[in-house]
This record gives sequence, C-alpha cells and structure tokens, in this order.
Amino acid sequence: MKSKLLFALTLLPYCLFNGNTLFSSEKPATMRVDYYHTGNALMEIFSLHRVVVEPLLWPGNPDKNIDNTNRGLYLFEIVEPLTNAVLYSRGYSSIFGEWQNTAEAKNMHRTFHESVRFPRPEKMVRLRISKRDDANRFATIWSMMIDPEDMLVVRKSRALETKVLSVLNNGNPAKMVDVLIVGDGFTASETGDFKKYAAELTENMFAVSPFKEFKNRFNVWAINIPSPESGTSRPSNGTFRWSRIGATYDAFRSERYILAFDNQALREIAQYAPYEFLIILTNSETYGGGGIFGQYTTVAAKNEWRQYLMIHEFGHHFAALADEYYTSPVAYNEAMGSKPEPWEPNVTALQNPQELKWKAFVRPETPLPTGWPKKEFETFQKKNQAERKKLRRENRPEHEMSELFRREQEFCENLFAVSPNHDKIGAFEGANYEATGYFRAQINCLMFTRYDKFCRICREGIKQVIDLYVD
Ligand SMILES: [Zn+2]
Repeated sequence: MKSKLLFALTLLPYCLFNGNTLFSSEKPATMRVDYYHTGNALMEIFSLHRVVVEPLLWPGNPDKNIDNTNRGLYLFEIVEPLTNAVLYSRGYSSIFGEWQNTAEAKNMHRTFHESVRFPRPEKMVRLRISKRDDANRFATIWSMMIDPEDMLVVRKSRALETKVLSVLNNGNPAKMVDVLIVGDGFTASETGDFKKYAAELTENMFAVSPFKEFKNRFNVWAINIPSPESGTSRPSNGTFRWSRIGATYDAFRSERYILAFDNQALREIAQYAPYEFLIILTNSETYGGGGIFGQYTTVAAKNEWRQYLMIHEFGHHFAALADEYYTSPVAYNEAMGSKPEPWEPNVTALQNPQELKWKAFVRPETPLPTGWPKKEFETFQKKNQAERKKLRRENRPEHEMSELFRREQEFCENLFAVSPNHDKIGAFEGANYEATGYFRAQINCLMFTRYDKFCRICREGIKQVIDLYVD
C-alpha cells in the first residue's frame, strides 16, 4: 500500500507538468479568447468578450508550446492553476500597444478587440497576460480562469461562404509554419487578381533568405470573401469602402499605414484555415502596409513596391523586427531622454558595446559604433522626404511615387557600396525612428531601406521564430 501511494505521488508532478495531459491527447481543438483592450497613454484594462472553440483542430506543433524567443510587447501564457506550470506561451504586440504611443492616447480612452489562440485544454487553466515594464521585463497585467467545459464557451461559428485555397502545401499543418493570406476589397470578378497577387507574393517571399532555405517547412493558404465594392478606404484622399475586416489606410492618421480594425470579423474568417501568421492583401495601388508582431501583415497588393512591402511588413509580423529606418515620419511620439535597450533583436541602444546583443557576429577589429556615410544619407533623405510629401499633397499618380522610391534606392545602394564598412556587422547609428542613440547591425537591410535582403541579424531573428514552429 505504502509503495503504491509513493508511486502515485511521484507520478503526480509529471502529469501536472506535462502539457499533453491538459491538451487533449493527440489532436486538440483550437481555443480562442476574444477580449477588449481599453485604456489611454497611462493605463490599460482587459475585459473578456468570449471564449470560442474554433472549427479547426489546433494547427501548431505539440512539441513547440513554449515561446522562449523573448519577443513582443506582451506575452500570453496558459498556466496550470495549481502548479503555475506554463503549458503554452507566445509573445505578441497589438494595435492597442502601438496606439498607446500616439498623441491621441494622451487625450482620450479607446478600445480595441484582440484575440489569443492556443490548443484547447482538457481541464481548467489560467490565462495570464503580461506586459513589459520599464526594464523590459514581463509583468502580469491580466489573468483569468478558463473552464473549457463551461456551457457558455462559443462552439458554433458562422459558416465560411467561400473556399480556402492552397497556395503552397507541404503537408500536415502541425509540422509546418502555416501562413494565411486574406483578401480585402476584391470583388467576385476580381478573385482572379487576388489569386495572382497571393501566388506572386508567396513566390517572392520564398526567394528571400532565410525564408528561401525553409520553403519546404511552410504552408500558405488563401481566403478571399468577395467584396461588394472594389478597393480599400483611404480617408486622406476621400476614398471610402466598406470592409468586412475594417482594413483602411491612414491608421493612426499616418497616410501609408494600413490596419484592419475589425479583429472579430478577421478571426471569424481566418479560423477556417490552419494558420499561425496572417497576411491581408488590400486591393489598392497607393504605397502602404503594416505589420504587427503576432497579429498580421497588410500590403497594398497593386503597388509596384508590393514585394518589398510584403516582406518588410512580414518581418515585423513574423519575427518582431524593429524598423531600422529613421527618416520617414511615423505616428508615434519620440522616446524622450535616455534610451532603454529595445527588446527587438535587430536594434540596440549600445549602452555597453562589450555587451552588444549580436556581438557573436562582430569581428574584433570592427569599431563600435561603426562608421557609415550618415551625413550624405540624411541630406539626400531630407530632400527626398520633401518631394514625397509634395507628391502626396498634389495627389500625383502613384507611378511617380514608385519612381521616386527607385531613385532613392539607387542612391542609397551606390552610396553604401563605396563605404569601407559596407559588408561589416557592427553598430551603425540611426534606427528605430531615431537618428541618434539607436543602432542597427549592418549598413543596409530591408528593414532600413527598400533593399531586397535582410541583414544578418534580421535573418538570425527570423530563423529563431521558424525554430519555434518547426523541428
Ligand atoms: Zn536588419
């Protein structure tokens, strides 16, 4: 009797810590928690909207439940309530998190709808959401119990009125990174255009390293629900279209920033495909897009720079890469005073060059900070930004803007090619929307200019996320 009891006791911790005993055997369903994220520049609260069981099984790899990449402004965890063992976790960022840094957030409260998704547990669990504090450590800001058997869990969803298309199929979603492309503003007769852009942009994505090397570990799916009207809203030039997912230019009043604000509608469509990452193609030509870590990427599908736009914005969405550029206007207030070390993998405040986070890639003879033709670049960019503003103000045809971007890119690449540090990994000042105090790893990167390659550090940052989804 005694020995049996001992056996039971030694088995218990194993059961509690093994995620598989809480996630139903082999193939759990997908659970989603929809909530409202409300606040202003100084405070935020979360309130539950509903708990949903999505129509498809969980598309993730059961061996990859714990996120150890330390990315994102927020972190959500599914926790075993008695032991506090973490069963599932993912870092993410959000529209609310970005909006909090806008001028508007100083004067008003706003609410944004958000979701987190995880394998359906068998038993009661705790959902815990944490946010970075001033020292970039995660601290819990919301927590609630989730009973998967609660009768009020939503178990039926509105049917999808169209088919899920396969753009790239490498097999079992649980073993692959699954990307879903959703169309916005394509009418029934424009479905062919949507398919064409989805195929072209997928092909381009897997022509760029490191996605290229891992193409056989990805699936790409596509859904286009025909829109009654063609096109996408662009309030700054008086263009208004109804969008089921609320996609629009001028997000946070930034003319080239496209976001989809109806998260509930977006999730109700997306849940019919296995997905971990989302790309929204808007049926529009004006240069624009967006990318939020763990949420989605948006791209103006008809813009001449769409291939660059998609891969750049996907860098934000997929791997939480920071913008390395600093000469374009953005909607956020500048970080004032001393600069804290950013959590993003590809930018640094270089407080201590000895502890540079990508120092393993830096040769000992490379000076830190690392010199580059910053003055020439900035003088040119100043002129260029004025020209860009003028083109928008005068509502000039889009190809003139595309042409300006081509000239700009040519100038930058020629300027960088003759710099003695053009091929070095170091710390180049100017990144993360700031001309001084933030540094990037290489002279050029597609998170910095409209270049066609990621820098070495961005490539590493992307590979770490691929590792989080596939063996
Ligand atoms: Zn980079």
